[in-house]
Amino acid sequence: DEMDVDTIWMDGEFVDWDDAQIHVLSHGLHYGTGVFEGIRCYDTEEGPAIFRWDEHAKRLYDSGQPYGLEIDHDSEELEEATKELIRRQELESCYIRPIAFYGYDSLGVSPQDCPTRIAIAAWPWGAYLGEEALEEGVKVKVSSWRKHASSQIPTNAKTTGLYVNSLLAGEEARREGYVEALVLNKEGNVAEGPGENLFLVRDGEIYTPGLSEGILDGITRNSVITIARDLGYTVHDEATISRGELHTADELFFTGTAAEVTPIKQVDNVTVGERGPVTEELQSRFFDVVERRTDDYDEWFSYV
Ligand code: PMP
Repeated sequence: DEMDVDTIWMDGEFVDWDDAQIHVLSHGLHYGTGVFEGIRCYDTEEGPAIFRWDEHAKRLYDSGQPYGLEIDHDSEELEEATKELIRRQELESCYIRPIAFYGYDSLGVSPQDCPTRIAIAAWPWGAYLGEEALEEGVKVKVSSWRKHASSQIPTNAKTTGLYVNSLLAGEEARREGYVEALVLNKEGNVAEGPGENLFLVRDGEIYTPGLSEGILDGITRNSVITIARDLGYTVHDEATISRGELHTADELFFTGTAAEVTPIKQVDNVTVGERGPVTEELQSRFFDVVERRTDDYDEWFSYV
């Protein structure tokens, strides 16, 4: 059982797994009015270290903005609660899931007097797309489902309801034997994966769709852009990538908290190839950074 959790922080208190319950008439369940984060904590020589807490906390609060969802626990309190969860469960590396949502009051679409409920859980979680995927790469299918336009729903907010689109795309791909989907935006350009950002390498330069393409502003995306530039690469981080460019790319890879840096070896029935040199360099540097085999980027880590 991967979800090996015995303590959950909920609305300001540590509770047992069995007691972390909500009412079936909670607003968030009916209308997808929740916001969440996925954060990794890495096992390092100086103990567990949470990767980019501040950026994840900021995105959590920002995600609530369009929905008027106010979280009245500050970042320091959530961070300390998370560290305490890690200590109490004696976790080394783990995945951290904060979630805030409208709870029960009335079931009109307007949340009116619904309280904001909030919880944090942490549990051990390995490579999202499989350990071998990090080395060998994954096959992805361009989804028949398009991503919502940011004029329809804020795509830069990590809202629970958004993920029905991710599910449709991901499950369609898996039913057809692919590991993951790749989702185009309404214009038909490449947006992102269901839970990953996309990068493309061509002639030694790096391209990734810009925020105006309707993507989530991924924190791993930001980290990889920073790492790549510091290694001397040219990174075009406001690119528009057409579907056809996927087929002529030298390399493609996904980034994400869960997926980390995962090479893409095939798109539909077109072979991209084995993990290429740029992907390999960025991936190995990324793991050196997060596992703290370097002192660089120390400001990205909060030690438990
Ligand atoms: N896009 C989507 C739709 C996601 O759900 C995620 C995962 N949070 C990402 C991109 C990658 O973001 P991050 O690197 O912050 O995990």
